[in-house]
Amino acid sequence: MNTEISHETTHKQHQMNQDSSNIGQPHESLYLVLPYLPLFELLAMAQTCKSFNDALNNDILPWLNIVVDDKVRRSRVSNEVLTKITLKAMGRLRSLVLVNCGMITDDGLLNVVANNPGINKLHLPQCTGITAEGIIRAVTTLNQHNTTVKTLKINGISNVTKEHLQTLHFLLKSDDSSSIDVEICPKCDEPRMVYDCPSETCDRKRTTGSCRGCKFCVLRCEECRICIGFDDEEIEVACEDMLCEGCWISLPKCNFCNKPYCNKHAYKQRAVPGSSGFVCEACYMKIIEN
Ligand SMILES: [Zn+2]
Ligand SMILES: [Zn+2]
Ligand SMILES: [Zn+2]
Ligand SMILES: [Zn+2]
Ligand SMILES: [Zn+2]
Repeated sequence: MNTEISHETTHKQHQMNQDSSNIGQPHESLYLVLPYLPLFELLAMAQTCKSFNDALNNDILPWLNIVVDDKVRRSRVSNEVLTKITLKAMGRLRSLVLVNCGMITDDGLLNVVANNPGINKLHLPQCTGITAEGIIRAVTTLNQHNTTVKTLKINGISNVTKEHLQTLHFLLKSDDSSSIDVEICPKCDEPRMVYDCPSETCDRKRTTGSCRGCKFCVLRCEECRICIGFDDEEIEVACEDMLCEGCWISLPKCNFCNKPYCNKHAYKQRAVPGSSGFVCEACYMKIIEN
């Protein structure tokens, strides 16, 4: 969702209301959409209007789940900003999803958890400022408040060891390996994201009976996770990821070099004025240099 648009709409709506009889009151319909808007955008809106801010503080639903994805945001979220927001949640937070928030450290995470001890969903993929020890401390704190984390995502956290994983499974009181996204790869014995091949008839399954493995052990298509054999013809992609032929065919491609982005990197597409297509970042740089 676009912050600027939502912000402007609120402001206009607010002005329209001021022109009519109920001065200073945001339109009632605004409250109906509160639970559906991302919290960061809601907070930006709240700054424009006191009664809206009060309504937001009193509404429970928007505070249950905080999602911050630094990759799609223009500014990076710091410990201070996160703490300020989660203090406003006043213990109501149940799910915290931080994606790629490299500026958040163990201290930031522990502050959130201390103020919201009911969190049972903790997703921290690629939050490189957080350590495995910090996550263990956070989950331990939650346990002390009788909250058991049901789903934990820690891929991209560096130096996670087998012992860390064991401790986390113990704290989550779960034998179900799917409660944590990282597991021990059966091929390299390292704690990593492990995938299974969706193909019933791939060469590995035929020869060894299994195609389970982390991305370092088995090369896979970024989209469908099917394994890619060493003999397969190399397929050109606009990002660093690999694609199978089927996924390559179905994805939209750069107007100039005919390479597609995987869906994860589709945000890198540069729009072409007057065309529904796009150019990749590399071609865009070439165009503006000339
Ligand atoms: Zn492996
Ligand atoms: Zn594929
Ligand atoms: Zn396979
Ligand atoms: Zn291109
Ligand atoms: Zn990609």
